[in-house]
Amino acid sequence: MPDGRHADGPTEKCGVVGVSLEDRDAARPIYYALYALQHRGQESAGIVTHDGFQQHSHVEMGLVGDAFDAEDIEGLNGSTGIGHVRYPTAGSVDSSCAQPFSVSFKSGSLGLSHNGNLVNADDVRAELAAKGHAFTSDGDTEVIAHDLARNLLESDLIRAVKRTMGRIHGSYSLAIAHDDTVLGVRDPQGNRPLCLGKLDDGYVIASESAAIDVLDGELVRDVRPGELVVLGDDGSGFESYQLVEPDATAHCFFEHVYFARPDSRIDDNLVYDVRRELGRQLWAESGVDSDVVLPVPDSGRAFASGYAEAAQADGADVEFAEGLMKNRYVGRTFIMPTQDARERAVRLKLNPITDVIEGKKVTVIDDSIVRGTTSTQLVELLREVGAEEVHMRIGAPPIVAPCYMGIDMASRDELIAAGRDVEEICEAIDADSLSYLSIAAIAESLETSRADLCLGCVTGEYPYDIEGETTDRDVARPEIDGAAGVVGDD
Ligand code: SF4
Repeated sequence: MPDGRHADGPTEKCGVVGVSLEDRDAARPIYYALYALQHRGQESAGIVTHDGFQQHSHVEMGLVGDAFDAEDIEGLNGSTGIGHVRYPTAGSVDSSCAQPFSVSFKSGSLGLSHNGNLVNADDVRAELAAKGHAFTSDGDTEVIAHDLARNLLESDLIRAVKRTMGRIHGSYSLAIAHDDTVLGVRDPQGNRPLCLGKLDDGYVIASESAAIDVLDGELVRDVRPGELVVLGDDGSGFESYQLVEPDATAHCFFEHVYFARPDSRIDDNLVYDVRRELGRQLWAESGVDSDVVLPVPDSGRAFASGYAEAAQADGADVEFAEGLMKNRYVGRTFIMPTQDARERAVRLKLNPITDVIEGKKVTVIDDSIVRGTTSTQLVELLREVGAEEVHMRIGAPPIVAPCYMGIDMASRDELIAAGRDVEEICEAIDADSLSYLSIAAIAESLETSRADLCLGCVTGEYPYDIEGETTDRDVARPEIDGAAGVVGDD
């Protein structure tokens, strides 16, 4: 598993980047940015550039470092381009879904990098197929590409994007290359992050600001929900078009809790600060008497330090300690798909330091519990090395439902919290006590209202119209057939 992820955590599926520079090739900066986004996807990596005349593309399975060699980068000419890293869907490693997706059509070339998931892709695909479009993958990114290509035959770039946004429904942060123009688009609910940065000689859009940092760039701001940002093809500036005015947003709160790098800023918040604040809230809501607070490395660290700091400020005699050591060289979990292999992976990955734990009352802090495999194994391990009591505190509410917006959360019947209350989960993982953070504390830490967050996986109510599920707001899928779903061209 990637750094910061453990065996049964939820997994982000993609990271996107787009770069436009004055007069140097964009491929190398995109390559570095993809390295910074590697935690968002490890199955495949790709770059598409444009040199003003033609598109160049290199997309490979594997990690960024394995997917490109110096020659590949040299061959990607042009000062504009986009890149993508992708995580596998459960059990499948499918090169037809690797991105950026690229296509040539009458009015030029298109490249698309997508983070998120459309919930009406099948409808749009069926309608386009009926009009003669042939698809090479079952991915929703190709659906967006075909729809946009079709619209570009009839409209200018801005109107074409607006039309496509009026037909697709779901979660999408997109980096698009239309010939040598790079665009960034964020869905009207702003479900997945996307930000804009300035370099000395150009502009960059990326899933996370850490990708801007590695290019020595400066974060300008987040791309707004419903906004299209067009980077000038000479790297000199950008234009902004607010194509859809959202009533409310549906930011994925899990980006702050788990997916994003702690050194990234999302929606004006440094992820590290948010996680520490969540840790403080966790102490305020469910602090428990113990001798030592241990983070589950790496993603539990900021929570645990916030928790311990708040506990000590309240006069609790508790120590913060790194009592679990992580083996960073254990293979990624997707090549170990069975439950038995996952359990073994936990044992291989986390080794407790006996001296820190033996004879102590221990509080273990983690960011989430999905299947419960890690937590169960951890509690057992801690008891084996002599912990007197093991209390678990989780920096998010219980995950009770799957994610349809591009996160691999496991299915409902695999989720330990689906159909169980906290007491039953505590019993199942054999902890002395277990508490989760409340939704109210999440909203407060993010300085937002709960109505502006996606909470689908912790409430079972989604911010999109998803077949067979309930929604927590007034959303409707666009009518795909005919013009009803097409937003105005004004
Ligand atoms: S369902 Fe959960 S993981 Fe998926 S987008 Fe919503 S908050 Fe994020």
